[in-house]
Amino acid sequence: MNRVVIVGAGQAGLSCAAKLRTEGFEGEISLIGNEADAPYQRPPLSKAYLLGNLAADRLLLRPLGWYEEQRVTLRTGVEVASLDRAGKRVTLSTGDTLAYDALVFATGAEARPLPDTLLRGRRGVHTIRDRADIEALRPELDAASNVLVIGGGYIGLEIAAVTRGLGNEVDLVEAAPVILGRVACRETALSIAALHEARGVRLHIGQGVASLSGQGRVTGAHLTDGTEIAADVVIAGIGAAPRTALADAAGLDISNGILVDACGRTSDPSIFAAGDCACYRLPDGDLRLESVGNAIDTGEVVARSILENGAGYTPKPWFWSDQFDLKLQIAGRAQPDDQVVVREAPGEAKSHWYYREGALVAIDALNAPRAYQVGRKLILEGLSPSPEVIADASRPIKDIFNATRAALPAI
Ligand SMILES: Cc1cc2nc3c(=O)[nH]c(=O)nc-3n(C[C@H](O)[C@H](O)[C@H](O)COP(=O)(O)OP(=O)(O)OC[C@H]3O[C@@H](n4cnc5c(N)ncnc54)[C@H](O)[C@@H]3O)c2cc1C
Repeated sequence: MNRVVIVGAGQAGLSCAAKLRTEGFEGEISLIGNEADAPYQRPPLSKAYLLGNLAADRLLLRPLGWYEEQRVTLRTGVEVASLDRAGKRVTLSTGDTLAYDALVFATGAEARPLPDTLLRGRRGVHTIRDRADIEALRPELDAASNVLVIGGGYIGLEIAAVTRGLGNEVDLVEAAPVILGRVACRETALSIAALHEARGVRLHIGQGVASLSGQGRVTGAHLTDGTEIAADVVIAGIGAAPRTALADAAGLDISNGILVDACGRTSDPSIFAAGDCACYRLPDGDLRLESVGNAIDTGEVVARSILENGAGYTPKPWFWSDQFDLKLQIAGRAQPDDQVVVREAPGEAKSHWYYREGALVAIDALNAPRAYQVGRKLILEGLSPSPEVIADASRPIKDIFNATRAALPAI
């Protein structure tokens, strides 16, 4: 194993390159990215960076000198255009070819655009995935009074909070009967909806966008219930799709992402995938996550698999979201039918604990960092205090972990 080529210079690609080196790989590593920037963090794009509170160089995941020190050949602004599996080489947009012994797809995901039937070529409609998207959006936001956000998922809600913070009138439209429908329990969704309403975001829940108005540039929208909304800028946060085109064209198995086994290996044993683009086939089902934690972990799983010293992927999901002064921290993977236990103890803020068949499986902590830490540790160690213990506000959170671990009779 001498040459590893990584397609996509984002969080997962970088994680894989870094892990290869810390695991002692001495061969060539090429990290190829089609964006202009070296690998950078995306989460601040809908938070501090959009707000203007973070300089562009603070987004970088590693200082530029790191790549030289680690002998990682980083090529930015270059697309991997095609893949020749039989010849084990890729062709770049520059026309260069690169041979590999192991190839890693870390191509991420792309923001879903609004359908053409709504867009009709109008200007002023945006999606957010890359830093370049923010650079295009920011001057328009500076000149805007009314912002319409389409989609009540995490990115849509974060953008609504930031644009409201910038002084805009903000409407948010969510077609489902509740915000965060696929990713959070009703209790968390209701708390966050109340926060947005208290800060002046007008929520239109259970409404679709029937049409956009404006010639050339967007001026507003008509909702399915007939409501008219003025909008100088529209931002769609309606999800992302895994970037699979190159892998698909090369004949690799695709199923909601580039399909890999628990070691991150595709249907071609020399080719791996990590991060948002990859769907991991695990013993308890297929898993494709879009989160920093997943990109880091699967990048590392792939590095170990390339070096044949890996044990495969055991997901330990965690996620966070910042909206106004709320820090939401999530650990574990909730499902719609989970039992939800609300904990609201003095001085601790609120947390929602998810149980499945009596076992603690996830926690949403709303400005409750200690509850999050305890919940995450419990989940990682497979420990489950009873729902009654969690709901008992008189019981300090810090005691719950130790008491559960010690398996005291009271638990
Ligand atoms: C606005 C926003 C906010 C977010 N907030 C959070 C958060 O709060 N918490 C959290 O955990 N996660 C958050 N996420 C998700 C998180 O950022 C992603 O899960 C993570 O970046 C995925 O990393 P990745 O390396 O798989 O993909 P990416 O970071 O998308 O990197 C893939 C890279 O590959 C490039 N590429 C694709 N095809 C090619 C090709 N053929 N040739 C060369 N280059 C190619 C892409 O352009 C991109 O630069 C957020 C994402 C966004 C967009």
